[in-house]
Formats: sequence, C-alpha cells, structure tokens
Amino acid sequence: MASDGNAAIDELQVLRTQFLSELKDCRDEKCIEAVRIKYLSKKGLLPGKFALLGKLSPEERPKLGQELNRLKTLFQTSLKEKLKQIEFQKARASKIDITLPGDRDYPGKKHPLLQVLDDIKKIFSEMGFSIEEGPEVESDYYNFEALNIPKDHPARDMHDTFYLPGGYLLRTHTSPVQIRVMEQQKPPIRMIAPGRCFRKDTPDASHSPFFYQVEGLAVDQNISFADLKGVIAVFARKMFGRDVNIRFRPSFFPFTEPSAEYDFTCVICGGKGCRTCKGTGWLEISGAGMVDPEVFKAVGYDPERYTGYAFGMGVERLAMLKYQIDDIRLFYENDLRFLEQF
Ligand SMILES: [Zn+2]
Repeated sequence: MASDGNAAIDELQVLRTQFLSELKDCRDEKCIEAVRIKYLSKKGLLPGKFALLGKLSPEERPKLGQELNRLKTLFQTSLKEKLKQIEFQKARASKIDITLPGDRDYPGKKHPLLQVLDDIKKIFSEMGFSIEEGPEVESDYYNFEALNIPKDHPARDMHDTFYLPGGYLLRTHTSPVQIRVMEQQKPPIRMIAPGRCFRKDTPDASHSPFFYQVEGLAVDQNISFADLKGVIAVFARKMFGRDVNIRFRPSFFPFTEPSAEYDFTCVICGGKGCRTCKGTGWLEISGAGMVDPEVFKAVGYDPERYTGYAFGMGVERLAMLKYQIDDIRLFYENDLRFLEQF
C-alpha cells in the first residue's frame, strides 16, 4: 500500500505544478477566478483528490491528508497574491501620480542669437533684400583697402584685428561682403550680409572677441539718404514695435559719406529715460551712410551714375535689447539655464 500512498503524493505534485503554471499566465481577475473554480470549487480538481484518501490504508491517510491541506492553503494564498498583483498593475497603468518626479524633455531649440538673426533676415527679405554670405577669413584688401581704409588709416586702430599668416585676417566686420557682391553683380543691388566677425576685444559685459553683424547695402540710380532712413525706420518698427522712432547723428566711417550713427527709441522705457538709455530715451544701434564714391571705384561702378547706402547692425546688441539681457557673454557660455528661456 505504500506505493499507493506515494502515487497519490506524486499526483498532487503534478496538480500543484499545473495550478501554478496556469495561474502564472493569468493577466486579469476573470482568469484568476476561472483557475479558482477549476481547482478549488466543490467539484474542482483539488477536492476531487480527497477521494484518494479512501483508497489508502489508515497509516498512510494522515500524510496525504496533510499534503492535501497544505496544497489547499497554497492554492488559496497564491490566488490572493496573484489578484493583488493584477490590481496593482492596473492601478499603475490607469493612474497618473502627480507626486512622482517627471521625465524632462530637452528638445533642441535655436540659439537666441539665431532667432534674432532669423527675424532680421525675414524683415529685410520682405523689403526685397537678398541674403549674401562671405568668408570669415578675409584678405586685407576686402576687409580694409577696398572699403577705403588704406594702410595707416586711423580707422584701422578701431578694428583690433586678428591677423593670420599670408596677409589674411579674421574679418572685423561684414562689410567686405559688400565688395564681393558688387564685384560679381551690377546694380541694382539690395542685400544684407549676416555673419560672424572677430576683434581682439577682451570679453566683458558688452564686448566679445567674436560677434554677429548684419551689413546692409543698396545701390541703384537716385538712391538717397531718405531711402536709408525709410528702410531703417521700417526695420526698427518691425523689430521692436510701432512706437519706436529713429534718429541719425553725424558720424564718420571711411566707406560712407556722409556717415551717421542711428539710434532707436529706448525699448526699455519707451523714450522716457532709464538706466539702459542713460536717461536719454535713445539707444545707440549702429552706423550707416551713403556709399563713398571711392568704394564704387574699387568695384568698377560709375560713381556719377550710381548712389547707394550701407548700414550695419550688431545682432547681439539687438538681441540684448529685445530680451533685456545685460551681459553679452551669456550668449556664448552655453549655460542651459540661460538658453532654455528662449
Ligand atoms: Zn530707456
């Protein structure tokens, strides 16, 4: 009879394995309930095994009885555990726990300077200006000579130049692009040249050894200073709003005659006077003027026939005014806390 007892125990082992495997595959309460009914209900598989007791000798019964009860307990607790597990998973899938730390995205963005540069390009494109480019490494001729800045001209002192071997240099302004375009094209010309420039400036709140500039140039017959003022005025209003006025003050540049500095109404205080505009209500923007006949001669244009204007603007300066930033170095430090704000 001992073999009957062992055979019964083996049968229970098979049932146990089968139960656990079926329960493991369950993904919802319905499945768990089906397993419960299959194994534990009155006519289920486990109660069915209690009939085995009747086939055993009185000595063997207690052992099998114990095993049956142990299995019953195991089935019951396994079912409960599985149910809890399913409920937890469901809760986790359906609920958003707002107290948990979130996953942060860092989507790519345009640098604030490039955003302002895009604005500038758009405004001038709408006024019919083409966008031209030139090399950052220039020859002395394009950067100075052709722009009426011969050697020993005092204006060269204002351009603290990075000289390179072989008579080359890092361009100190985007004006050489004017020359390159005029050499290639006949009037009428309406162009802007955005790009990076370099000067030996020690970095501080308002200086950087490299910076972005936009050069503008228009050449045709009968172009006058009034055209220049009109274009700068439209630009100022599109960039900073309808209430911005412009003014021109006499100045000097070797490549324009007459030359002027132009100012915008202070965008911080609206012209009332504040710290940024030093109480004047005006912000200095950059220089402009009528193209000097000497420059036309350098590119083979007839100065008797054509006139034109040129202007420059510093992109950092405009970006600092637009976003009210008081330190130019912030643009180049790649600090995400700064860059994320744009
Ligand atoms: Zn002001």
